[in-house]
Amino acid sequence: MVERGSDLLDGRVVVITGGGAGIGRATAELFARNGATLVVADVDEEANQATAAAVADLGAQSLAVTVDVSREVDIERMIVATEAEFGRVDVLFNNAGIMLADDADAVSAEDDAIDKTFDVNIKGVLYGCKYGIPALRRAGGGSIINTASFVASVGAATPQIAYTASKGAVLSMTRELAVIHARENIRVNALSPGPLRTELLMSYLDTDEKKQRRLVHVPMGRFGEAAEMAQSALFLASDMSSYMTGANLQVDGGLTAAYVTPE
Ligand code: NAD
Repeated sequence: MVERGSDLLDGRVVVITGGGAGIGRATAELFARNGATLVVADVDEEANQATAAAVADLGAQSLAVTVDVSREVDIERMIVATEAEFGRVDVLFNNAGIMLADDADAVSAEDDAIDKTFDVNIKGVLYGCKYGIPALRRAGGGSIINTASFVASVGAATPQIAYTASKGAVLSMTRELAVIHARENIRVNALSPGPLRTELLMSYLDTDEKKQRRLVHVPMGRFGEAAEMAQSALFLASDMSSYMTGANLQVDGGLTAAYVTPE
């Protein structure tokens, strides 16, 4: 694991949604160790403040903004606050997402769960780009990372039709955004995690049996860690990935490559 820093993100101002937990928090901490200034945005004010404090302890400048990414006004405020405080936006990590317990198969999923999932997972990313792209332009370019999921590429083994559809949308939006904004020095890539040992999935796979069932599909035979997603996000955020746009970086223990899982 990359623990201590390089100067990969020196002087870069990074906005991370869903910064209060899981991938967002791990990424904020890793980016802080690699020179970034952090703006963390989350609907959970307390968790978000805790991340901002952790980042400050690592010596990075930070700002916490409470947002619900499904609300356009909140996203606009997030970008305005970032430019007001730090003068620019260089990297936008559209990472906040939800997977609801009452998401289900197409026959039984309720409209309310479908709407909420689409609002956060699809509109959240779209609003991030709506306000983030003009800010990246003002900064002379930059990198956008959208968190999708392995379920955007392969059928999920558990019924979660709204979530799966929403992540497919994230992937297709990412490709179009990448093409449209390529000549503006704005790169847009997706990060597709496999199943992770974060709150989002562990509260969903809430029995050992469900966990084991999911692991059958992962050649590495274990859940991924948020810190492992942070490392991939660091690559996509920095100039290490300078010729990469419109890509889907699958960080999934081999899940999407597998046909039969080795014993
Ligand atoms: P997590 O639940 O640990 O953290 C998500 C954070 O997003 C939380 O702090 C939560 O408060 C915040 N959030 C939720 N709704 C929000 C909203 N409307 N506005 C602002 N913030 C909001 O989850 P995680 O595992 O770190 O997931 C991060 C991203 O990774 C999500 O987009 C998720 O779909 C995706 N993902 C996760 C897994 C997994 O196995 N955990 C797999 C593939 C993709």
